[in-house]
Amino acid sequence: MLTIGLTGGIGSGKSTVSRLFEDRGAAVIDSDIIARRVVEPGSPGLTALVETFGTQILKDDGTLDRAAMRDMVFRNSQTRHRLESLLHPMIWDAIEQEKSKIATPYCVLVVPLLVESGAQGRVDRILLVDCSVPSQRERAGRRDGVSPQQIQAILDAQATREQRLAAADDIIDNEKSVDTLPAQVEALHQRYLRMATAC
Ligand code: ADP
Repeated sequence: MLTIGLTGGIGSGKSTVSRLFEDRGAAVIDSDIIARRVVEPGSPGLTALVETFGTQILKDDGTLDRAAMRDMVFRNSQTRHRLESLLHPMIWDAIEQEKSKIATPYCVLVVPLLVESGAQGRVDRILLVDCSVPSQRERAGRRDGVSPQQIQAILDAQATREQRLAAADDIIDNEKSVDTLPAQVEALHQRYLRMATAC
């Protein structure tokens, strides 16, 4: 199955673009949704996390305390590596399972941190939704209602625009109006269909 890794920084337009692929009948897998599913209460993922990090990562209702977990990994990069080496294989296994159920010629896998996580080799092509950093700030701020400082902290933790551009095979330019997106998505959709049949 031809797998297109759709990536881009916060507020760049990944969700907007993925909806346009869905409108055209492409299968879209959201890695964030899968990442949440593998640590649902009762899951082997959550059990493994508790065994490694203790019950302090659980809320009273038994669900994962994401804020506590984020706090722990933010303070300690070794903890972050341990967490990633536990979770990433589970997430990729679940993605493979999801892909095996798909009957479309290709799939779009949305992975916000594709470049940062070094998982480029897991996809056949990297499709970047690109816009300027000021546009990212403005759009993410408007959407999430968070402070400029909070957005800056997220931007600082992500790859730079240049790093993403260097990794990309295909680029959707989302600097201008959303009206410029459907034609770009349509052209890529046709191209991916052709590539999938050539595989
Ligand atoms: P991401 O999924 O990459 O974080 P979204 O697709 O959610 O980004 O887009 C971020 C916000 O910006 C959303 O509210 C979306 O409606 C808006 N948006 C996306 N593209 C544009 C654009 N070209 N011009 C103006 N607003 C946009």
